[in-house]
Amino acid sequence: MNKQTIRDLPDEAVRGRRVLVRVDFNVPLEADGRVGDDTRIRESLPTLSHLLDRGARVVLLSHLGRPKGKPDPKYSLAPVADRLRDLLAGPDVAFIPASAGAAVVEATRSMRDGSVLLLENTRFHAAEESNDEALARAFAELGDVFVNDAFGSAHRAHASTEGVARHLRPAVAGLLMEKELEYLGRALATPERPFVAILGGSKISGKIDVIEQMLPKVDHMLIGGAMACTFFRAMGLETGKSLVEEDRVDMARDLLARGGEKLVLPTDARVAPAIDQPAAAATVARDRILPGAAMFDIGPASAAAFAAIIRTGRTVVWNGPMGVFETAGFEVGTRAVADAMAEATRAGATTIVGGGDSAAAVAEFGLADAMRHVSTGGGASLEFLEGKTLPGVDVLDERVA
Ligand code: ADP
Ligand code: MG
Repeated sequence: MNKQTIRDLPDEAVRGRRVLVRVDFNVPLEADGRVGDDTRIRESLPTLSHLLDRGARVVLLSHLGRPKGKPDPKYSLAPVADRLRDLLAGPDVAFIPASAGAAVVEATRSMRDGSVLLLENTRFHAAEESNDEALARAFAELGDVFVNDAFGSAHRAHASTEGVARHLRPAVAGLLMEKELEYLGRALATPERPFVAILGGSKISGKIDVIEQMLPKVDHMLIGGAMACTFFRAMGLETGKSLVEEDRVDMARDLLARGGEKLVLPTDARVAPAIDQPAAAATVARDRILPGAAMFDIGPASAAAFAAIIRTGRTVVWNGPMGVFETAGFEVGTRAVADAMAEATRAGATTIVGGGDSAAAVAEFGLADAMRHVSTGGGASLEFLEGKTLPGVDVLDERVA
């Protein structure tokens, strides 16, 4: 990576200094207000420990949910402070219900070395998402050094991700950010082969740029999810009530022609009259989908074929579930892919899961630890795989040669 990270900072640059860290604590909250899946908090610990061990005063900024630009107690980060305190087990963790202004600056100045101050949800300011200059400057007053460790927010040019870094130097990457960029970057730039991509999910339109970007680079591209149905239509097959994007059929036809042998589509499907009728599901060949049925998962022959290819891979990148995995009965294809990836991982392959729903599926199957890397950023990993520049990364200090 050509960006500086916290490991490039000399200890004097952080000891006793206010280090403003943009983290991605956008975690699910339970009905009782407590933190649900705390993966994103735990993934920030290496960066926080690195700084705390060196006596930094760590000031944390994050967004949570979509509070529409004004304070909303439903989206307070207060419960996150409690979980962070438990996870860090030692350093003081304080929380204040504001993220900018004179009182917050004062609070950052009266911190003890080696302690943490978590600020309130940045999206309580409408100016956050509009990347307002004044808010960016206000955030910049909260630290002497800026660290961006929020990979999951790096594709958004917001005041706390991109704007602030234009007013606060040094501005460097955290360890989670570095890890995410290294796994995804290496997979795209210097993949060990065979390189297998697995794409699924609901819409081809959201993934078209990823397909375009990755098709020339991979050895095999496996297509599942509802996306496969748009390809079926392009092949002239009946797709019944399946989710098909009519306006992308020509594009799918073009990809089929260009992809040749690389592009692997399901040969069979799990179909049902409706999504809430998994008990009525049947397996059919892909050219036997009836007008009254819809495809909700890849079929068993396809799952076996996909798994066999995945097991040969030395680099495997997965984005998008193979079916409606949220419904019991339609998770089988997605589970087969996850199992095969776990097997590939055990055989030494670099396996990477990107995409929020794919990561959720892997977690649900209890296989998150069986992968080499599960990205904490759904949208960000997608944009990275599309070859786009992430504004929150772009703005950071370059490493000098
Ligand atoms: P990710 O978040 O991993 O990038 P997407 O958001 O693109 O994945 O797609 C996930 C959604 O796609 C899931 O909610 C899943 O139910 C849906 N999906 C997958 N296969 C089908 C299908 N055959 N029909 C309808 N929806 C599907
Ligand atoms: Mg999704």
